Amino acid sequence: MPRPNLTKSGPQRRCRTHDGVMTVENSHALDELVAALPEGAVLLDPDVTAGYRQDWAADPAAGHPAAVVRATCTEDIQTVMRWATANRVPVVPRGAGSGLSGGSSAVDGCIVVSTERMRQITIDPVARVAVTQPGLMNAEVKKAAAEHGLWYPPDPSSFEICSIGGNAATNAGGLCCVKYGVTTDYVLGLRVVLADGTAVSLGGPLLKDVAGLSLTKLFVGSEGTLGIITEITLRLIPAQPPASTVVASFDSVQEAADAVLAITSNMRPAMLEFMDHASINAVEDAVRMGLNRKAHALLLAQSDAPGAAGVLEIETIVQACENNGATEVFATDDQAEGDAFAAARRAVFPAVLAMGSLLLEDVGVPMRALPQLVTGVEAIADDLDVLICTVAHAGDGNTHPLIVFDPADPDMSERAQIAFGRVMDLAIALGGTITGEHGVGRLKRDWLPSQLGEDVMALNRKVKDALDPLGILNPGAVIAVKEASLD
Ligand SMILES: Cc1cc2nc3c(=O)[nH]c(=O)nc-3n(C[C@H](O)[C@H](O)[C@H](O)COP(=O)(O)OP(=O)(O)OC[C@H]3O[C@@H](n4cnc5c(N)ncnc54)[C@H](O)[C@@H]3O)c2cc1C
Repeated sequence: MPRPNLTKSGPQRRCRTHDGVMTVENSHALDELVAALPEGAVLLDPDVTAGYRQDWAADPAAGHPAAVVRATCTEDIQTVMRWATANRVPVVPRGAGSGLSGGSSAVDGCIVVSTERMRQITIDPVARVAVTQPGLMNAEVKKAAAEHGLWYPPDPSSFEICSIGGNAATNAGGLCCVKYGVTTDYVLGLRVVLADGTAVSLGGPLLKDVAGLSLTKLFVGSEGTLGIITEITLRLIPAQPPASTVVASFDSVQEAADAVLAITSNMRPAMLEFMDHASINAVEDAVRMGLNRKAHALLLAQSDAPGAAGVLEIETIVQACENNGATEVFATDDQAEGDAFAAARRAVFPAVLAMGSLLLEDVGVPMRALPQLVTGVEAIADDLDVLICTVAHAGDGNTHPLIVFDPADPDMSERAQIAFGRVMDLAIALGGTITGEHGVGRLKRDWLPSQLGEDVMALNRKVKDALDPLGILNPGAVIAVKEASLD
């Protein structure tokens, strides 16, 4: 992330809006915001703020922020939201910008609120609880917990480059979530700044607390559309025992998907990941792990059950793979070797990104429908003649078909867009979801009504309107902007 040195006394006062340069009236309002915040908090240089326009989805339609506020505390964010309410200016919350759905894409003339400088954490090893500001990376939270012999499980593949605030805002998942659950299972409490600048504390360090509506859960996964998370109270658990690992190759995705069902119907692995032929080869090109390049699918499974139970789980996994046509099965108790395979799986996304522009899917289905989803995605790729590399958190039915295209080729770009929609349509038809963990953001918003239906969409809208009546919080993410709401 760029570390600019422009402050309120800096020379850049041009602020782009829809039609180019911010109006004098708005520019004066911006002066008030700059004056109300600590020295250096507000970035105005368009060359610098451009670095906060997009997330990893690199949506070309992202707008240009009028300013970026790098908050250090809840009060800074309250100041921004009071100002934004008074001036009806859109605000886009931003963690580390690793999102894959355009959720933190800027809108023209907005204020981006970045939490990158909110990095304090305290651990209570007796209560096994962490209280953290949102700007720490997921990996840093894990490290702080590990210093007390504790573990924060949710592990997005991006754990070294995504913030814990972004994880809470997207209800992030990851590789070990098949056994240990996703972010919301560890969020005990939140401090949130609402659209009007009010700060509320929801939940807290209590392991049991059912007082009032379950508002903490409402904000987890709300993608910055209902409030800005400024503090998170997390449940920690004792450190994970060392895991044993199985890697199995298959001649077809169908066989690998059948093996997944055979495994999950008998046990709950600590990790169960899937890579297809194109993903295997993309990783091999990038990091040379010695994966079987000829395989049409690969499963990576782990068990961290202690002693005899662990041995039995590994046997169950090996058996399930062999019974479903695995051409090669390799098991290891070596932790470093297992970590290297997990790293290879995590390398898929950057490796595929090197092949071209991507449209990133995050579709999930009930476990029974997993074989139909992966074979259906193959059929869509064949039909439209597009390259789709599929990786999956297979153990929880959550797949990431990555559609590769060349933006300079209009025909291929159009076919990729069609494939993007068809994959989501397929997931919905199979009783699944358009997003298992990345969030709806802006890129999947148009498919949300097909999944939720009219009544549930209306309920989403009511909640949004109740908490953000002016529609200033992350407008256009998850739910379409109401016409004239920002006029
Ligand atoms: C290589 C790679 C692998 C990935 N693997 C996974 C994976 O395995 N599992 C997974 O779940 N995701 C994965 N992701 C997606 C991404 O890392 C997650 O969605 C992550 O939770 C985003 O965190 P962030 O800090 O980067 O948030 P951002 O991208 O900055 O924001 C994400 C959303 O949260 C909102 N937001 C951010 N901070 C706050 C806040 N403090 N208050 C309110 N709203 C806020 C934003 O407005 C936006 O809507 C991956 C991404 C990459 C690049």
